[in-house]
This record gives sequence, C-alpha cells and structure tokens, in this order.
Amino acid sequence: MSIKAPRGTEDLLPGQVEIWQYAESVIKDVVKHFNYKEIRTPIFEHTELFQRGVGDSTDIVQKEMYTFKDRGDRSITLRPEGTAAVVRAYVENKMYGLPTQPVKLFYFAEMFRYERPQHGRTRQFHQFGVEVLGSNQPAIDAEVINLAMTCYEKLGLKSLKLVLNSLGDQESRTNYRKALIEHFTPYKNELCHDCQSRLEQNPLRILDCKKDREHQAMQTAPSILDYLNESSRTYFEDVKHYLDLMEIPYVVDANLVRGLDYYNHTAFEIMSEADGFGAITTLAGGGRYNGLAEDVGGPETPGMGFAMGFERLIMALQVEGVQLPLLDAIDCYVVSFGEAANESAIRLTNTLRQNGISADQDYEGRKMKAQMKSASRNHAKYVCIIGESEVEEKTVMVKAMDTGEQESVREQDILTYLRKRLNGGIGNE
Ligand code: ATP
Ligand code: MG
Repeated sequence: MSIKAPRGTEDLLPGQVEIWQYAESVIKDVVKHFNYKEIRTPIFEHTELFQRGVGDSTDIVQKEMYTFKDRGDRSITLRPEGTAAVVRAYVENKMYGLPTQPVKLFYFAEMFRYERPQHGRTRQFHQFGVEVLGSNQPAIDAEVINLAMTCYEKLGLKSLKLVLNSLGDQESRTNYRKALIEHFTPYKNELCHDCQSRLEQNPLRILDCKKDREHQAMQTAPSILDYLNESSRTYFEDVKHYLDLMEIPYVVDANLVRGLDYYNHTAFEIMSEADGFGAITTLAGGGRYNGLAEDVGGPETPGMGFAMGFERLIMALQVEGVQLPLLDAIDCYVVSFGEAANESAIRLTNTLRQNGISADQDYEGRKMKAQMKSASRNHAKYVCIIGESEVEEKTVMVKAMDTGEQESVREQDILTYLRKRLNGGIGNE
C-alpha cells in the first residue's frame, strides 16, 4: 500500500511554490517599509504556554492542539498560533529592555491545528503575522491594521472588507460579561453543547460560535459597544480616527469577538468579498492583547498584532484572478549540437550561473527542435545556440524569445550582452 500525506496536510509543488515565494517577497517588502523585524521561534513549545497564553476555554486549547509527551515525559505542543510563542520569546529574551521600543516583530510560520479539513482549512497551515510589544497607543493599532491591509493591496487584492470592534478594557468586559450571561441564560438549553459551557467560562465566545450563528438570541444579544467605559470608548474612537486619517475603510461589527481569550480593546478581521471564495471568508484576524505577557510570566506589556492565513491568501489571489509576474522563468537556455558544441555549452551554462544569470541546458542529447521546445517550456528569456560554426568562430547565437530576434555575439562578450538586456536595456544600444 502506498503511503499518503497525513489528512489535513498539503504538498506545495513547483509551480505553486513560486506563488508563495512571490507573496512572501511582496510582504517582506511591506514589513521592511513599516520597520518590522523578523523573529523565528520553535515549532513546538511547552503545552502550558498555549493553555495559559491562548486560554483554556478556546477551541484551540480544548480540541485542536497537537499535544504529545516527549521521551523526557514533558508535554509538548506543536504551535497552533504565533502570538503566545512570540510573547514568550519576548519575555524570555528580555526584549522589553531593548533600546528601541516598542518592539515590532513579524513571522512566517507553519501552524498545527487538529481541525476538520475542508477548503481553506487544513491541519498544517501557514501564517504571516506581526506583533508589536510595548506600546499602548491607538496609533499602533491603526498601524498594524494598515500593515495587514497594505500587504493584501500590494499583492493586488481588491475585494477586501475590514471589520473592526472593540472589546474594551477589563472593567468594560466584566460588565458586558454579566449582561451576556443574563441574556443567554434563558436560552441555555437551545444552545449547542459548547456554548452551554461557554456561558459560564467565557460567554463572549458564544458570539463567535459557528453552530449557533442563526439562533435568534444571537441577533438580540447586547452589544459590547454599549458597555465600553469612557476610556475604552475614547481608545476605540482614536483607532478609528487614525484609520480615517490613512483613508482605510472599515465597518464596525459589535459581534466580532475573535476566537482567542487574550484580546482587549481593538479586534479586527479582514475578509474576502470576492465571488466564489467559499464559505470561509476570513483572511486575517488580530487585535490588542494587553494581559498576555503577564500571563506567560513576564512584566506587564501591552501588545497588538494579527495573523493572516497564507493558504487563504493564495486562494484569494486565485479567486480574484490576480495576474502574477511569470515566476518560474529562467534567463537563458543553452542549446547545442555536435560534440565540441556540447562542451562549450557546459562551459557557457556554468559561466552564466556563476555570474548571476539563471541558466539551464539539455544533457540528453536531444535534437535541436526538442531543445528549443525545452527552452520555451522553461520560459527562457533568451536562448544561446552553439553549433559547429559557433565553436569555430568562438561565437554564440543569441535568440530573444519574446521578439524572435537573433544576433551573433562573441563568446567573450556574452555576459555583458545578456546582462545589459536582462536589466531591461533591450534595443537601447
Ligand atoms: P477560523 O474562524 O477560520 O477558524 P480562527 O479565528 O481560528 O479562524 P486565527 O486563529 O485568528 O483563526 O488565525 C488567523 C488566520 O489564520 C485565519 O484568519 C485564517 O486565515 C488562518 N487559519 C486559521 N486556521 C486555519 C486552518 N486550520 N487552515 C488554514 N488557515 C487557517
Ligand atoms: Mg479556528
């Protein structure tokens, strides 16, 4: 029996990988312009980190974690999300003592959640995320949201919706929590099993339930926005004001609570509104988490961040039909016929590769026509043709694949010739 990849995992094959690399490179450019620095944390952590940092009452901790005992009998968990690990690293490495504050970080990482696989939901998936630690300014919330939106826009996505909410501070949430318990208790028996236990543990998360979404009690539930105290309300107004200043459109949805326990004040999600995106439309989510660093044993540190799913980003690019640059093109394909020419070809391909020009050639002794076909299948921009007369004359016949124009170039000039053209200098001599 042949062995298959585990359920909920996907191979990324050549062709697809180039799209991922392109998306990563666009995003890396954005984070650079926003002055965020990369952090890489381990793939696994002590289980306790997520129990404390993500929260015992969340779906992630209750049913989605890949948890196992290692040979030293420690409970280990494959990271299901990035924030808790980044905050752990921030605390452990005393990054609160760094001279530049706040600390602005980003990561690209694979995450693991034991979920029911479906389109846009896998068990191993990838996230790009950012975290800002050490600032409690609403302008930071707006900056982080702006960064996420900028990534999508630079990649050419148009059908985006930014949904915003405030969960307020501790006091506001405590009052709201009471109101929610009062509101939902009469309906308790009609709610799903999870929501019945959420009612005591964390009633806010009832609003995030996918099963009870249509229940009438959801529509009539009290709004967090009516329970924000004055400072929380001001904070939220400021965030919206900064988004307005940067001309970032948003809608406020008082039911947006997000799945994790650690959020306060700002919560946001970015959805795709493209036709045919499917049932799962959330591309990214994030918010402010001022209590998290303390929860994992560090000093009180305000934090703000988001994570975007990479699989869903790629889906959005496909659904919106975004034209990507030709990603797997090579600069030059070397075609040769005759024994002496084959040797020149090996030398030339190597010279090109060593000098910053991507190149390939045929080693199978195929006919000239088949070699030319190979060149176009590899999306070569130029073909260098070497036959007997080229060997004798120490020249190379260079064909530009876009125009079909051919030119005989002296062997010693080939690097300069190709470099000039590859840098966009065609026809400018
Ligand atoms: P959902 O409501 O879709 O389960 P979530 O609230 O669990 O999302 P977050 O933990 O906020 O998601 O993760 C941020 C982003 O990571 C999501 O918006 C999504 O794009 C992506 N993501 C989350 N879980 C998965 C998964 N199992 N497979 C693929 N992408 C995922
Ligand atoms: Mg989830």
